[in-house]
Amino acid sequence: MNAPLAPEVVGRIAMAMDTRKCVGCNACAVACKTENALPAEVFRDWVVIETRGAFPNLSQEIRSERCNHCSAPDCVTVCPTGASARLPDGTVIVDPDKCTGCKACIAACPYGARAVHPDGYVDKCTFCHQRRERGELPACVEVCPTESLVIGDLDDPDGPLRRLLAARDFKVLQPERGLHPNLFFLT
Ligand code: SF4
Ligand code: SF4
Ligand code: SF4
Repeated sequence: MNAPLAPEVVGRIAMAMDTRKCVGCNACAVACKTENALPAEVFRDWVVIETRGAFPNLSQEIRSERCNHCSAPDCVTVCPTGASARLPDGTVIVDPDKCTGCKACIAACPYGARAVHPDGYVDKCTFCHQRRERGELPACVEVCPTESLVIGDLDDPDGPLRRLLAARDFKVLQPERGLHPNLFFLT
């Protein structure tokens, strides 16, 4: 399902996460830590296991979560220095050189997607900008043993992401916040 995005892609990069395939192995979180040389206290992705119902009628949903690269991100709106920005490809980034570590973006993000790096700036998922520039998949996508994570260009009607979203039911987290997340959870 996954093919590397061409480095010149300037569409709208988004991700689908298949809650029916994910086994909660945490390989995505470990790969992200390694790829992005994150210190112990900083995570750019994490696994959530949600149990629903009452015994004996229980069900579980397993999600690998990260920044939703929202189309209307409050984290960008509140940033006083312009360090948080939305790029033309739709991804939301933090420029460590402009970030003062004021944490306004952390307070504004309802998804808990940001953390303070020990070097004083705020850190978050970049959809592995550095790997995509080399024509490679994000580390979490590449390592997932069940191929639960799919990255693609939402503006490409024939691309794998749009085909997947056309074929499956999906949801976004906290749609009522109106930030228009671009991480789609297949249900
Ligand atoms: Fe789920 Fe894949 Fe992450 Fe494992 S690596 S927790 S299967 S998304
Ligand atoms: Fe910003 Fe949070 Fe949306 Fe990511 S998930 S773009 S940090 S508001
Ligand atoms: Fe981490 Fe890259 Fe996956 Fe984002 S896309 S969670 S930075 S490995």
